[in-house]
Amino acid sequence: MHAGRPGEYLAAAFENECQERWEREEAERWSCPCRFTFGLHVWSEKRANFYTLTDTGLFDTDVTNCPACNRNLNKARADHANGQLGFAF
Ligand SMILES: [Zn+2]
Repeated sequence: MHAGRPGEYLAAAFENECQERWEREEAERWSCPCRFTFGLHVWSEKRANFYTLTDTGLFDTDVTNCPACNRNLNKARADHANGQLGFAF
């Protein structure tokens, strides 16, 4: 599958490792008001891509609505910008 271009394969593997570390350790986390936690690619205060997380903390599926409560996530984040800091209720 990767025959012929080992250098290219190694570069891709290295990039993948960096990406995984970023997802696990550096990417912003955000919790839906229902407490479901996502990993974020943040573009702006009002706009982000939301990913469900695997058991090992890697990004899994890109979603626009919460799989637990079906809120629109960009809207929920705009309403609860500091969701990751906890809620009063
Ligand atoms: Zn939710």
